[in-house]
Amino acid sequence: MENNYLYGIIAVLVVMTAGLGWALWSLNQPPEFVEEPFVTIEEKIVEDEAVDGNEIDEQTIGAVINVHIEPTSNQRDTLDHWQTVQSIVELSDEYEMKLSLHFSPSVAEFVTSNAEALELVRDWEESGHEIAAHHHDPSHAEWDGYTNDASLIGTRGYEGTVDELMEIVTAITADGEILVGSGTKDAEEWPEGVIYGSAGGSPPSYEDLVGPPFQETMGETEVTFLTKAPFGVGMISASRNATYEHIAEALEDMRDDEYLGLTLTDKTFNEETLADLEQVYQLFVVEGIQTQTIENLLAP
Ligand SMILES: [Zn+2]
Repeated sequence: MENNYLYGIIAVLVVMTAGLGWALWSLNQPPEFVEEPFVTIEEKIVEDEAVDGNEIDEQTIGAVINVHIEPTSNQRDTLDHWQTVQSIVELSDEYEMKLSLHFSPSVAEFVTSNAEALELVRDWEESGHEIAAHHHDPSHAEWDGYTNDASLIGTRGYEGTVDELMEIVTAITADGEILVGSGTKDAEEWPEGVIYGSAGGSPPSYEDLVGPPFQETMGETEVTFLTKAPFGVGMISASRNATYEHIAEALEDMRDDEYLGLTLTDKTFNEETLADLEQVYQLFVVEGIQTQTIENLLAP
């Protein structure tokens, strides 16, 4: 009898200890809703936008599409090119791909003087495309007329300094700032304060499709470059252009520190190359890749 009484007390004590232990353990457990505050504002925006379909979720592959808006020498040329640029942006918007739009000064001047074009450019910038500067220095077959080489002042075609070029291109932006550039490899011709750029090999080649960012001092400016390969560029041999197959293959074995970069030029873009670009966009969608601006990829 006494033993049964003792066992009873022990049983009650065991149950009480277990109960108290469970209570203490529960108190130490984070409540369910605690996960929410750990989501940063930026992550939250990405999540919300993903729901809206404006932005895809976090991705591991960084990809850039540069569009070179080349220097033009007459109005007909300018309007022609402008049509091409618009069709590239329209297609990209359809697939929610962001572009890095590299403006030559002559086309930037056209944009500034044309209210409709300026409104369009501001819309593009607002929707997440990047406005960059494109400079053909005097060593280029199609010099844009701007240079830091004082010996060329007053010569045929001279328009001004590289600083003046930057003023013209910057005028088309809403935020009055351009951080991305391309076109020249001459450190003396690189626009001061432009800290990001895209650059490929010479001659341009599909071999430069993928690579890690690289730094170079250009004049007074330390510049971080992303690689680029030509796509549908008519001024070079067709076999040097990157193709759908090159891109598909590159995506298979890209390293974490590498980026994929393509460069189109408005000068030779046509129905055919636009269809090729759409194929690439379809591949990107399947792979969960959204192209981004150079600034977005490189800014800390
Ligand atoms: Zn160019």
